[in-house]
Amino acid sequence: MKAVRFHQHGGPEVLTYEDAPVPTIQAHEVLVKVKACALNHLDVWLRGGVPGWLLRMPHIVGSDISGEVAGIGSLVTRVRLGDRALLAPGISCGQCEMCFKGLDSACRQFTVFGVFVDGGYAEYVKSPAMNVVPIPGDLSFDEAAAVPLVFLTAWHMLFTRAGLKPGEEVLVIGAGSGVGSAAIQIAKLVNARVIATVGADWKLEKARALGADEVINHARQSIGEEVKRLTGKRGVDVVVDHVGAAVWEACFDSLATYGRLVTCGMTTGADLKLNGQGLFARQRTILGSFMGGKGELAEVLQFVEKRKLKAVIDSAFPLQEAAAAQQKMEGREFFGKILLHPE
Ligand SMILES: [Zn+2]
Repeated sequence: MKAVRFHQHGGPEVLTYEDAPVPTIQAHEVLVKVKACALNHLDVWLRGGVPGWLLRMPHIVGSDISGEVAGIGSLVTRVRLGDRALLAPGISCGQCEMCFKGLDSACRQFTVFGVFVDGGYAEYVKSPAMNVVPIPGDLSFDEAAAVPLVFLTAWHMLFTRAGLKPGEEVLVIGAGSGVGSAAIQIAKLVNARVIATVGADWKLEKARALGADEVINHARQSIGEEVKRLTGKRGVDVVVDHVGAAVWEACFDSLATYGRLVTCGMTTGADLKLNGQGLFARQRTILGSFMGGKGELAEVLQFVEKRKLKAVIDSAFPLQEAAAAQQKMEGREFFGKILLHPE
């Protein structure tokens, strides 16, 4: 098969479109012919190398995958050849205490497609049968690939971690990012008032179209000042962040008393300053969040099937142009998910 692999860490130039063996499946596994694979920032970090994460080389990234079932192991009964499927991105053991509790991403064996197993930048990928999910309704392969990781991450952040309640006020950092565009929609499901930020004027209208009630352009406006103005100095109940250092203080200062700041990533750096007085005196909470579980994905997909949550797609590239696709993501000139098509 054709795949985009890297043999060493580095910039986009290490991504090589080349021949690779079709994965061999075990009795409990499924072979999927990839129709679409969505990019995540994770792909770029893995390409560059994550301290402490030792990848088997050559390596194939890609965590958000949709396609057709092309092979099934002898123990697999849930799916049939030719089924349209998406893959739940998180792989866990399924038999430990955390897995039983539905907290897949806390499983000690937790990993994600494209991290310690090969991912979807390829014509074929293999998957444990339990990760193979029928594509709901008439969702296209592109939509099915654009949804999983960012929506289950945003769902886990807002509901499981931050305990968002109906009618609360939410600040979403980076409306054009995958997580941001998902978080806006999820917060609107419970009629939260959503203030979103974008980094360019052309993204303002797109953020509003997703349901944001107010949009701040952080390139020319102060997030802290605008949140104060928009909330009558009260602040917001929940901040959804994945950017880290560059916006951290503005995020923290935007919290109301009893506000919760939930973060799932640090794309601009993880070296943070904490205003300790603002933490205890305002009784605020800082929450870490890491991906999510299959149960949360199932909940998300019910809303996707009813079109109450929608995949946000920026663009699609042929698989062999994976380097250009990643460069587009790193350049921040996108709104929503960027996809790869193997054919
Ligand atoms: Zn487990």
